[in-house]
Amino acid sequence: MTEQSGQTPTLDNLSTESRVFAPTDEFSAAANVGAAAYEQGADDREAFWAEQAERLSWDTRWERVLDWDDAPFAKWFVGGKLNVAANCVDRHVEAGLGDQVAIHWVGEPGDSRAITYADLLREVSKTANALAELGLEPGDRVAIQLPMIPEAIYSMLACARLGLVHSVVFGGFSSTALRSRIDDAQAKLLITSDGQYRRGAPAPMKDNTDEATAHTPSIEHVLVVRRTGGDVGWTEGRDLWWHDLVDRQPETHAAQAFDAEHPLFILYTSGTTGNPKGILHTSGGYLTQASYTHHAVFDLKPETDVYWCTADIGWITGHSYIVYGPLSNGVTQVVYEGTPNTPHEGRHWEIIQEHKVSIYYTAPTLIRTFMKWGADIPAGYDLSSLRVLGSVGEPINPEAWIWYRENIGANRTPIVDTWWQTETGAIMISPLPGVTHTKPGSAQRPLPGISAKVVDDQGVEVAKGGGGYLVLDQPWPSMLRGIWGDNERYRDTYWSRFADLGFYFAGDGAKYDADGDIWLLGRVDDVMNVSGHRISTTEVESALVSHPTVAEAAVVGASDPTTGQGIVAFVILRGSAKPDDSTVKTLRDHVATEIGPIAKPRQVLIVNELPKTRSGKIMRRLLRDVAENRAIGDTTTLADSAVMDLISSGLKSAP
Ligand code: ATP
Ligand code: MG
Repeated sequence: MTEQSGQTPTLDNLSTESRVFAPTDEFSAAANVGAAAYEQGADDREAFWAEQAERLSWDTRWERVLDWDDAPFAKWFVGGKLNVAANCVDRHVEAGLGDQVAIHWVGEPGDSRAITYADLLREVSKTANALAELGLEPGDRVAIQLPMIPEAIYSMLACARLGLVHSVVFGGFSSTALRSRIDDAQAKLLITSDGQYRRGAPAPMKDNTDEATAHTPSIEHVLVVRRTGGDVGWTEGRDLWWHDLVDRQPETHAAQAFDAEHPLFILYTSGTTGNPKGILHTSGGYLTQASYTHHAVFDLKPETDVYWCTADIGWITGHSYIVYGPLSNGVTQVVYEGTPNTPHEGRHWEIIQEHKVSIYYTAPTLIRTFMKWGADIPAGYDLSSLRVLGSVGEPINPEAWIWYRENIGANRTPIVDTWWQTETGAIMISPLPGVTHTKPGSAQRPLPGISAKVVDDQGVEVAKGGGGYLVLDQPWPSMLRGIWGDNERYRDTYWSRFADLGFYFAGDGAKYDADGDIWLLGRVDDVMNVSGHRISTTEVESALVSHPTVAEAAVVGASDPTTGQGIVAFVILRGSAKPDDSTVKTLRDHVATEIGPIAKPRQVLIVNELPKTRSGKIMRRLLRDVAENRAIGDTTTLADSAVMDLISSGLKSAP
């Protein structure tokens, strides 16, 4: 460790990225949220969030904004009552927006549907009537494993409408993953489909859920949407077709108000660092922050914008920024069912061109994939409708950020790099597009009303230029209310690291730059220790990605007899780049020049794929297992299990 300003930084600060992009005057003048919001949020946090809660319609007003007496178990908007689904649907119809398109749904095989708010109200009401007919009561849990089809959104909103707690399980998860999630929540109903389209072909889904529900005694019914028309097994009495049960229901349903702290959903984390945790979110505070952040961070103008978030509804991003945030704001949005390269690698740009998408929110993994495919692909489409670009899920490498801005944003659109987690429920750290002078690779500043700090081992805030642990030192409205059924694990996982100080510790490392802006540096579990220097994987990866031949890189520390740990880099080259004898040396030297000799990788391995979670995050813990010749750990949330074999064999044959 190195000494700095009298404190002990927990991370060396190596990168030297210094580009800055100011918003245009025109953008700033019309922005939803200006700089004054930061002061407002800092002066009186509770008053600030109470004001944001006024964005919603409440049946009963709250008596107290925040009850933190039983910390770390928060209650927000105590005594308030509202219906989350009515806030996302009914009130827009009541306001005369029934004919506005809520969802431009685009199916992978080329089918599409335009769903207005009036349509959405009818469909959600019918679905709610159907679930009520099945005897479900407020508080009951409903598991949902569906592809990205409108029924997934109808199901979530129908649950919210009835006070049922949904647990959405990503469509690609195995029967084992589904089974453990159903068991953990003791779900009574599973909503699924016969099959799903993946990469241009129908694939079965119910086969998989049948394997899971053979061992889940809590499940009373399985409600099945017909999507692909494939054959399915059927359990009489338990299984019901959506078109039999839902289609015959009345088109209206009177929504009842629920307590602000009524549970809304359980969602499992992606499993990048270990076993997934069942994160519990509730109603009033969650919807307030999802709604406000969507309005502020994306500068959403519901009358004119067309918004598209490319996440799957199986992830928190799909919950907060496809369903609850956008719909509470009366958005018009694109929802796309399929993969980005079906039927061709320009599919996203084609959809943006066709629907005149103005706000596009995606993940670094996809941006790096687009880089690998080449800039000439987006160049073939009219992307001039775009005005805000977003990124979420991992630190975005500065070079990927620049590529995104230049090739997708025509060097004009602000980019918002949004840091948050399943646990935080909504965006916490991000630029505001009309205010922030953005820096490639930095999430920059906590949003108005949010407080976050970078601290050292003792919980003392590090100086500008220093690195350490990212903590949230004040409660926030959309914070998790616990881990389902396990209060002890909740305290241990998030609140024990800085117990005396009452900080929530997110598990991420970060640093301040000279202006005090925050840069996320990856998981603290991934931080490498090389000859006493604590080096972040993110910085070395970003240095590699800044080389013109590199599309993607994953870096891990492997134990090393002389340096403690040695840096091992796994690198994917861009489409046009061909490796030769000098590639490895060139890349090692490039890192040394970019950030210093201390960060020069011991080994660089050229690979075709990297192990990623189903949500697209690199799983460094598996690469560390490979680099240290260990048996490979839990791979249940790995997208493609064959990847690990390929990488292991590549490593053995490497010099
Ligand atoms: P698990 O907790 O099970 O290991 P996970 O942390 O990957 O899984 P998520 O809640 O989906 O599950 O991901 C949150 C994490 O994603 C954050 O803690 C952070 O590491 C990373 N992340 C998300 N957005 C950003 C961002 N904009 N910049 C940097 N990191 C980000
Ligand atoms: Mg996590």
